Amino acid sequence: MKIGVIGVGHLGQHHVKHLVKMEGVDFVGLFDSNPHQADDIARTYKTKAFHSLEELVKNCTAVTIAVPTPTHFQVARYCLQKSVHCLVEKPLTTTVEEAEELIDIAQKNGLILQVGHIERFNPAVVEMTKYVNKPAFIEVSRLGPYDPRVSHVGVVLDLMIHDLDIILSMVKEPVVRLDAVGGKVISDNEDIVKATIHFKGGCRADLSASRVTLKKYRKIRVFQQESYLSLDYSERSLKIFKRKGTVMNSLRDIEIIRPRLEKYDALQRELSHFVQCVKSGKTPLVSGEHGRDALELAMEILKNMALHEVPNPAPVNLKKQQPVNS
Ligand code: NAD
Repeated sequence: MKIGVIGVGHLGQHHVKHLVKMEGVDFVGLFDSNPHQADDIARTYKTKAFHSLEELVKNCTAVTIAVPTPTHFQVARYCLQKSVHCLVEKPLTTTVEEAEELIDIAQKNGLILQVGHIERFNPAVVEMTKYVNKPAFIEVSRLGPYDPRVSHVGVVLDLMIHDLDIILSMVKEPVVRLDAVGGKVISDNEDIVKATIHFKGGCRADLSASRVTLKKYRKIRVFQQESYLSLDYSERSLKIFKRKGTVMNSLRDIEIIRPRLEKYDALQRELSHFVQCVKSGKTPLVSGEHGRDALELAMEILKNMALHEVPNPAPVNLKKQQPVNS
């Protein structure tokens, strides 16, 4: 299996780092539209920098694509049309129509199309899914500092989409209603968003995503009839709170389980899964369809979102607010 990486910036260089040493693959090389970046990463990992997309793709049976989101579609479509299997970073594309087109080309050409929703490979998430049983209420927060590198998309496509994919993988029911409110604070796109999703079976998910928070905070809590699951994505920790019996008199009637989690690199696991799927023809854990579904929900949130722009703060006239006789 001959594999290459397209786009070797912040994330793509880590694709290279794992793939150059992965067993069972022949790492062909990389391409980046910035030749300095391409040469630099090729030198670091002792591989070849191709100087055109066409040249790299001609030599590959599979590629991973980590170019900026607005160019995913154009690059992935080219590769799929050339009968090359693709792992495309998240979000799959910027429109549902583009996602459908990629899925269609992959199907027609019998190709693997995987989407880089890496949280599905987070050991804590893998363990949590074993305990999920008809969630009634889900609460998620994914907060962190602003990074100008991703200002071309808003916080929904950048961060919240990870959780939308996780939630859709746990609640396999249609969405019946959603409400969202967001704010532009720093960039030209929404930087902070709160969304509530109502599913047909009654489950409700409350999500908060922000890129105007100094400290990284990434947690999901799942409430269901017999248990409450609490997961920290960054710490990679999971706690399960279960009722011991039918009666609850005190906290002693709750059993707390802290499962022992496997220790591995989620990106390495995700890439190795892609390689296995290409070799075996198995459908990936995060297929093009999963990528499209998460994107579709993200687009609905953006469409329904009441957007607030933080205005230039006007000086407050305190005198006006003081009681007349003071
Ligand atoms: P980046 O800007 O650091 O890197 C992108 C690289 O692609 C740059 O080196 C740029 O020169 C190159 N490039 C741009 N257009 C190109 C083209 N047409 N052909 C070839 N190379 C091109 O961005 P990044 O942070 O590495 O993000 C890349 C993608 O990965 C984004 O879609 C982002 O959403 C995704 N991402 C996913 C995760 C995750 O958790 N799964 C994390 C970070 C980024």
